[in-house]
Amino acid sequence: MKRRDFVKSMGVAALASSSLSVSSQSMAAKAEFNWKMVTTWPKNFPVLGTNANRLAKTIEQMSGGRIRIKVYGANELVPAFEAFDATSRGTAEMGHGAPYYWKGKNEATQFFSALPFGMTAQEVNGWLYHGGGMALWEELYDSFNLIPMASGNTGVQMAGWFRKDIHSLDDLKGLKMRIPGLGGEVLKRAGGTPVSLPGGEVFTSLQSGAIDATEWIGPYNDMAFGLYKAAKNYYYPGWHEPGATLETFVNKDAFAGLPVDLQLIVKEACKAANMDMLSEFMAKNNQALESLVTKHGVQVKPLPDDVLKTMHRLSNEVVQELIDRDPFSQKVYASYNSFQQQAMRWSDLSEYAYMRARKI
Ligand code: CA
Repeated sequence: MKRRDFVKSMGVAALASSSLSVSSQSMAAKAEFNWKMVTTWPKNFPVLGTNANRLAKTIEQMSGGRIRIKVYGANELVPAFEAFDATSRGTAEMGHGAPYYWKGKNEATQFFSALPFGMTAQEVNGWLYHGGGMALWEELYDSFNLIPMASGNTGVQMAGWFRKDIHSLDDLKGLKMRIPGLGGEVLKRAGGTPVSLPGGEVFTSLQSGAIDATEWIGPYNDMAFGLYKAAKNYYYPGWHEPGATLETFVNKDAFAGLPVDLQLIVKEACKAANMDMLSEFMAKNNQALESLVTKHGVQVKPLPDDVLKTMHRLSNEVVQELIDRDPFSQKVYASYNSFQQQAMRWSDLSEYAYMRARKI
């Protein structure tokens, strides 16, 4: 028996017993776990990749070294978009990515990333942790032998970089833009052409004019990518990704093999990482935005209201069609949307009203 399998089965046995004996408890307390984490990010990718590294280190430190996690960048152990399957079958014990990458597995995964005109980070965390969202996400991933954990959030993104100004809906007609997921579907209905490109090709495509526009994340990552050198018009707000959740997914068998205290450490470390990424983006986006404007001559502009209004209407159409064809999406959206409608009433009186008040 390999040492890891032995350790795993020992953990399973300990959990299976409803009343743990002293000896099995102390054996579980001594067990050590060497895990692999496969990620969808290039190694040490700013914020997203570095947060995955930090999560692994946090788990190791919180567990006093009982869980050690080796983090793999995209293509080191498996290609970026194989991370989900590799973790599902146990090639790695955990993975780090974005739920909407797996929409080919089940379209409902998209609701756990971000929904156009959907909830902000603060609202979505309310839904996940205290509004039934996590239970639905767990139900969805259960059939893939995985347990999902929210592990980061970008906050509201930017609408993107445009080579030309956007004055009206007419300017979206024929626009070739790198914009993935549901947002891309919305652009298509507005007359544009959504393009899917790997990260490494985004800058050169925008610079050469192969695409007219791209969204990416926000000031910090966009600046690191050099997108301001290829286009100067930087539009807001990121209607398509108002608070994108990043994820950790853990192989169910590997998780069941952990003693209860280590299971809790993994879960709580992911919660801490969720908050930490949002905080990091808040700090770094502020600084980067200033550099983009003052040093690099970037023009920051709002999308016109009538453009946003139409995109919102088209988003509702796209979501309606999605929930009409996929029963699980319908179930998730019913929960998501009822939470959002309530949250918006409160957010209007709290966040929105306060942000307005402090500028009066
Ligand atoms: Ca994005």
